[in-house]
Amino acid sequence: MLVNGAVVAGKGASTAKGRSAEEFEQIRVILQGRFEDLDREYEEAVAQNTRLRLVEIGDAAGDDQADSGSKTAERDAATSLLRTLLDRRTQAEHALQRLDDGTYGNCEGCSNPIPVERLEVFPSATTCVHCKQVRERRAS
Ligand SMILES: [Zn+2]
Repeated sequence: MLVNGAVVAGKGASTAKGRSAEEFEQIRVILQGRFEDLDREYEEAVAQNTRLRLVEIGDAAGDDQADSGSKTAERDAATSLLRTLLDRRTQAEHALQRLDDGTYGNCEGCSNPIPVERLEVFPSATTCVHCKQVRERRAS
């Protein structure tokens, strides 16, 4: 669907929906940085997880109950960390894709551009603060 040329051609031209090319570039740098951080953390967590499993296999024979219990907890924590990191990495990746196809950064509620200050803090945000509050009020 996306041709490389189309993305490059959008650069420098003033972008639609009231956001400047500089802002897009700023957001892209933030998102890309976040994605790389998460990617690195995820790879580290995977390596850590593998080590835990190897230790577990090696030690299993000599374990008493308490030992194997704390190892299970450790492994569960590692697994849930992996899941969280993978989730966040997917979100950042998704945001980068939306940035490329021009749908990124507009509120899903009111379709106004989400302020860049908000995106800096929450790069994966899909609504402006106002719409988020409205949603939360409806939900509660
Ligand atoms: Zn909104």
